[in-house]
Amino acid sequence: MSRKLSQVEIPLIRDRIERMLRAVTPDVFDGPDPTRPGGVKRIADHLDALVEIVRRTRTTRTESFLYQILEDICSKCPFQLPSEHCPLRNIHKCALYRCAPAVVEAIADELVLLQDADYLATHPECRAS
Ligand code: SF4
Repeated sequence: MSRKLSQVEIPLIRDRIERMLRAVTPDVFDGPDPTRPGGVKRIADHLDALVEIVRRTRTTRTESFLYQILEDICSKCPFQLPSEHCPLRNIHKCALYRCAPAVVEAIADELVLLQDADYLATHPECRAS
């Protein structure tokens, strides 16, 4: 596992995700409680695991990220049942799973801006010259 995010980095990445989702899927902010199970504010619960996935993954294929989210995040999420069924995922009510491509893109953008050493180790083409 690579380095955990610092207290400075956490809000930067969280805010970058929020800005991205407000631009591409603003409807995820609809509803009375964004902290409800599967709500958009629950994405931050999984920030370290998401960053870890983005740091180590070179492909841009959505399927690869969804697979890793299922393996590394859903398997530890309190809303997934022991049968590995998630009632929220199945009805597209988990903002993280539904918006995974945009979340991944936002994290990658911020890691490049931060010149994150772990991200750059697998994405050397993103090094500032
Ligand atoms: S899809 Fe379900 S199990 Fe996975 S993060 Fe979302 S709520 Fe949790």
